[in-house]
Amino acid sequence: MTDRSALLPVFARTDLSFERGEGSWLVADTGERYLDFGAGIAVNALGHAHPHLVEALQQQAAKLWHTSNLYRIPEGERLASRLCANSFADVVFFANSGAEANEAALKMARKFQSASGRPERWRVIAFNGAFHGRTLATIAAGGSPKHLEGFGPAVEGFDHVDVGNEAQLKAAIGPETAAIIIEPIQGESGVKPVAPSFLRFLREICDANDLLLIFDEVQSGMGRTGHLFAHQGTGVEPDIMTLAKGIGGGFPLGACLATDRAAAGMTAGAHGSTFGGNPLAMAVGNAVMDVLLEDGFLADVAQKGLVLKQKLAELADRHRGVVAEIRGEGLMLGVRCHVPPAELVGALLRQHVLTVPAGDNVVRLLPPLTITAEDIDSAIGALDAALTEVETALAQGRSAAE
Ligand SMILES: *Cc1c(COP(=O)(O)O)cnc(C)c1O
Repeated sequence: MTDRSALLPVFARTDLSFERGEGSWLVADTGERYLDFGAGIAVNALGHAHPHLVEALQQQAAKLWHTSNLYRIPEGERLASRLCANSFADVVFFANSGAEANEAALKMARKFQSASGRPERWRVIAFNGAFHGRTLATIAAGGSPKHLEGFGPAVEGFDHVDVGNEAQLKAAIGPETAAIIIEPIQGESGVKPVAPSFLRFLREICDANDLLLIFDEVQSGMGRTGHLFAHQGTGVEPDIMTLAKGIGGGFPLGACLATDRAAAGMTAGAHGSTFGGNPLAMAVGNAVMDVLLEDGFLADVAQKGLVLKQKLAELADRHRGVVAEIRGEGLMLGVRCHVPPAELVGALLRQHVLTVPAGDNVVRLLPPLTITAEDIDSAIGALDAALTEVETALAQGRSAAE
C-alpha cells in the first residue's frame, strides 16, 4: 500500500488490512491472525464468515438483489414481523445505517406530534455524551462539539441534559418538546449504562407529557447485552427504537421500530429510502435473527459476558495502576483506564487482539456474540500482557508506544 490513499482521510486508520475472517479471528494480508474483540464496532455479531449468513447471502445473491420499495419485499415483511414479535414494536422501517435509522426516528417523533394536532412540538431532548450518527441532524442530536465543528449552524431542535439528572430533564421540557432520545448504554462516550431507574423516570415523564421515548440501540441492541435489546433488561419500553450495527452481521442495515401509535403520522410518502430493506439485506437480517433466536443463544451471551467481566475484574485488581474500572453489560464491556485508551488499544494490537477506543479513557471490548470460552481466555492472557506493558511504560514515564 502507498502512504497516500485516494480515500478521504476522515479516518485515522491503523496501518493494517485483512484478507479474510474466520469466526472471531481476522487474518491480515501478511497471514498474521488477530483475535477480533472489536467486531467491526459491534457489527460482526456472529463473527466472520458465519456459514448460515454466508449461505443466506449467496442464495439471495443468485436470485434477486434489488427491486426498490415500489414493490412488496416478502423477506422484509418477515424480518419486520420477527423484530416486532420479539419487542414492544408494531412496525419497522428499514434503513441502511444507524444514522439513517435515527433520522427516521426523529422525523417520526415530529410527525407524531404534528399528526396529533400539536405541530408546535418539534424539539427533542438528548443527552450529553450521546452519539447518534454523523448526518447533520444526528450530529446535532449527539451534540458533541468535536462533531459539529466547522459544519455551520447545528440543525435546530435539540436540547441537551446530563444523563441521570432528573431536575435538569424536567426543566428542559417545554411547550415545543416532542420526544426524548437516549442510548440505554452510551457506547461511543465510554460504555456507560443508564440506570434503569432513570429510564423508568423518562418513561413516566414521557407518558405524563405526551412525549415519545426513543431508545437508540444501534450499538446495544441485537443480543449484545445478552438481551435481544438492552432495554429488555430494564423493564422499560420505548415508543421508538433504532437498530443498526449487529442487525446485518456485517451487511449494511438499519431499522427504526415503533408502536402503531408513535408511527401514526408516517403514511405513504412521508419517508423513504431507495436501498432500505432490500432483498440482500433482508436475507442476511433474517439469517442473523435465526441465530439470535435459537434456544439458549442469548442466555449463552449473557453467561459469557459474566465470565468475561469476572475475569476482567480480576485483571483490574492486579493492574490498579492502569485500570480504573470495568463496566458494561453482556459482551458490551468497557475497560476505563488511567491513560488514554489508545495506549491500551495499541498494546493489545501488539498482542494481536483488536479492540475499539471510546470516550472517557475507555477501551471497548465488543467480541462477536459467538466468541468461545477458549478465545475469551486468550484475550484475557493478551490483556494481562498488554496491561503489564502499559504499566511498565507508565512507571518509566513514557508512552507504551515509544
Ligand atoms: C454507531 C452508532 C450510530 C451510528 O450508526 P452509523 O451506522 O454509523 O450511522 C448511532 N447510534 C449509536 C448508539 C451508535 O453506536
